[in-house]
Formats: sequence, C-alpha cells, structure tokens
Amino acid sequence: MSQDWITEAPVSLSAEVIVCGGGPAGLCAAVAAAQEGADTLLIERYGFLGGMATAGLINPFMPYYTGGEQIIEGLFQQIIDRLDAAGGWSHRQDEWARDAFDPEIMKLVAQDMVEEAGVELRLHTMVVDASSDNGHVRQALLGSKSGLEAAEATIFIDTTGDGDLAARAGVPYEQGRPEDGLSQPMTLMFRMTGVDEERMPSREEINRLYDQAKAVGEIDNPRENVLWFYTTRHGDIHFNTTRVVHHDGTSAADLTAAEMEARRQVQQMVNFLTEKVPGFADAYLSTTGTQIGVRESRRILGEYTLTAEDVLGASKFADGIARGCYDIDIHNPSGTGTVIKSLPAGESYDIPYRCLCPRGFDNLLVAGRPISATHQAHSSLRVMPIAAAVGEAAGTAAAMCIAQEQSVTAVDVAKLRERLRRRGANIGGE
Ligand SMILES: Cc1cc2nc3c(=O)[nH]c(=O)nc-3n(C[C@H](O)[C@H](O)[C@H](O)COP(=O)(O)OP(=O)(O)OC[C@H]3O[C@@H](n4cnc5c(N)ncnc54)[C@H](O)[C@@H]3O)c2cc1C
Repeated sequence: MSQDWITEAPVSLSAEVIVCGGGPAGLCAAVAAAQEGADTLLIERYGFLGGMATAGLINPFMPYYTGGEQIIEGLFQQIIDRLDAAGGWSHRQDEWARDAFDPEIMKLVAQDMVEEAGVELRLHTMVVDASSDNGHVRQALLGSKSGLEAAEATIFIDTTGDGDLAARAGVPYEQGRPEDGLSQPMTLMFRMTGVDEERMPSREEINRLYDQAKAVGEIDNPRENVLWFYTTRHGDIHFNTTRVVHHDGTSAADLTAAEMEARRQVQQMVNFLTEKVPGFADAYLSTTGTQIGVRESRRILGEYTLTAEDVLGASKFADGIARGCYDIDIHNPSGTGTVIKSLPAGESYDIPYRCLCPRGFDNLLVAGRPISATHQAHSSLRVMPIAAAVGEAAGTAAAMCIAQEQSVTAVDVAKLRERLRRRGANIGGE
C-alpha cells in the first residue's frame, strides 16, 4: 500500500519501536519494549493513557485468576500495585467490588510507568494512515494539531484496539460475527454519585423495576438487565448498562450516532434510577466515558487464529505468550441477551505468539483487542488484564527483533517465553 501523502508529510518522528495506541495493551507494550532496551515511541490520540480503562470508563478488571492461581502478573501486577499504593484500588469485600480501580489514578499510573521506562510519548496524535510494501510497514501517517506528520520505525506495534494501523497498512482482517458481520454492542459507561448504598434494593429488585420501566416505554435500551458494580468510593455506583447495536466502531459516522443514542439511554437510566430505585433519590450523574466503549471491531488475520474450541478446551501452545481464563462473553450484536460460556473450573488457555503476527508482514505486531481470533474467542481475550499481558509480550518481542535485527516472524519463541518469565509474567509451562 502506498499513499500520496507519503511524499508530502515530513518525517518528524522515528524510533526503533513505535507503539500506536496507549490502552492496556499499548501501555504495557511500550514499557516492555523500552525496558528491554529498544528506543520506543508511544503515540496516543487522547491527552492521557489507559484506553478503555480510562477513556472508556471501563471497570473493573475481569478475572485474571483461576483455580487459586493468578495467571496474569508482570506489568499488569505492577499496574495493580501502583493503583493500590496511590489509593486507587478497591479493598471492599463484596464480589461486585472486586478488582475495581480509580480511572483518574489509572491515568497517572500509566503515565508514570511510561515515563520511568524511558518511553518517548506523543499524546493528542492519531494514526490516520500507513504505507507498506511487500509486507513491510514503511510509515505511519499521524494527524494532530501540528498537522500531518509521518513516523518511521523498525518495528511497529498496533495497539489501537481497532487495528487501525494494520488495516491501513493492508493487513487482512475480519469484523463481527460470521453470519452477518455484526460486532458486539457498544456501551457508554456512566457513574452515579451520592447513592445511599444501604438503601439500595437487591439486584433482582432493581431488575424487576427495570423490566417495569421497559414495559411502559420509559426505557427502550435493548439490554436485558441492569449491570452495575461498586467502585473504589462508597456512594459511587458504576453502570455497564447502555447498549447500542448495529453500529461499527471503525466508522466515524457510526460512532457519532452511537454516542448520541447512548447518551439518550444514559439519561433514561438516570431518570429511572433517581425516580424509581431506592437509594438513588439524591444521587446524580457524575461522569460518563470520554468515549463510548467499543467491545469489538477489526480482528486481524494472523499466523494463527484462536478459536472458541481453543478457549473452552483450555488449549496450550508451544508459543504461548499470555494466558486467559475469562468466559466467552458475547453481548448480543443485534438486541437483547448475552451468551456466556465458561472454561472448565480452574483452567486457562494460552494465547500463541502467532496471533500477534499479521499474515505476510515482517515488521508489524498487533496486541490487545484486535489480535487474530474468531468472533467467539475474541469475546474472551478482549478483557483488560489479557490485553495488558499480550501487550507486554509484543513489546518484549519487538525489542528482541531490534536486538537480533530480525523480523517478527523470526523471533525465537522459546527465548521470548524465557524472557517473559524473567520479566515476571506468568505464562504457565515449566
Ligand atoms: C463496554 C465495554 C465493557 C467492558 N468491560 C470490561 C470489564 O468489565 N473488564 C475488563 O477487564 N474488560 C472489559 N472490557 C474490555 C476492555 O476494556 C478492552 O477490550 C481493552 O481495554 C482492550 O485493550 P486495548 O489496549 O487492546 O485497547 P483500548 O483499551 O481500546 O486502547 C486503545 C488505545 O489506542 C488509542 N487509539 C485508538 N485508535 C488510535 C489511533 N488511530 N491513533 C492513536 N491512538 C489510537 C485509544 O485512544 C486507546 O488509548 C470492556 C469493553 C467495553 C467496550
């Protein structure tokens, strides 16, 4: 792929490793690459890091422990430790308060980790295009207040969550479920503050009231129930309840429509909660996500495609670089209902390094949400702890490519696994 802009935009940024997107995957990829000795640049479109964990207001971390074992450690554990040290980690005992974190403190933790690792950071900068030839990414085109700029790297890592760089560079990808291409719904998270928690009824009673409100047309959100969590602060309740279906997270027009629809749903929920649900009478809407949460968009086609059978069968791979234990969790892409399928108790699956390697590309890795997986497998591996672990592996592999002057597909996976273990990642095996 080659674009006209390539001759026009100045090459103002370069590094050995360029990581595009500063969410859980990109943050960990950039920190790992820099810690492993690579000159690393992290590019992020917003004015802060954290991705869905901050901009999407997504909370809490979904389970990263199974059978009494914590299966994701490494940089993810450092994030938890830093959140905890800064007062941004939940110690409440209720199961619905577990692994909750403060998104504002998360922004600072992410920034500190990147800075301490020596990563060069460019905020407020969006990857808008890429050029490649013969499976080699040449440049990323960046758009910002500074205008258009080109960036060059020996190794690129796409952690945009949507595979933006990979898609623009010509990497083949899939989107949505096989039968109609629809992706999981989007959700705008919101929080109510000033809730009298002691007066809140049971989840069943809240759902009964919700069904009543739906029956009389006060709520037209297609979600089947009210999904809410405690937060790190008493009196703040977090809602994962809006549902916008039939929209594409890679289309600016669809994102615009989805944001507007979701905000309308939030207001319906606020009215419902304050008027109908005990404990909420004096509460108010304190925040919504900076952007609507996008559960699913592009999934690149990589050297291996992880399947539902791999997830539910707890498959192990010789090139496993991270582990997952979260359910297959598919919010209905076209309406009401959520399909959950769990792994056998105490089991986890491996994510092969090959899922990070786009087919036919020699200097590009993809980490986080868009790695090579089916619609079903993606619904498990998309959660934040797994994205962080996969990101750490991608950054470590990229630094090895720099040190060995080799392509991403030539990485010695036994050495990569050894390196990850030494970094503190729990990748299983011996
Ligand atoms: C509604 C919803 C609920 C969820 N619930 C949970 C949950 O409860 N627990 C859980 O653990 N996980 C949950 N998840 C999943 C999880 O939040 C994401 O899948 C995860 O954050 C993916 O991490 P990532 O780093 O791959 O991508 P993201 O977190 O999306 O980060 C991508 C980053 O790249 C930046 N970016 C994007 N495009 C560009 C570009 N072109 N140029 C520059 N920067 C760019 C973004 O601003 C962002 O910072 C949920 C997701 C959604 C949407």
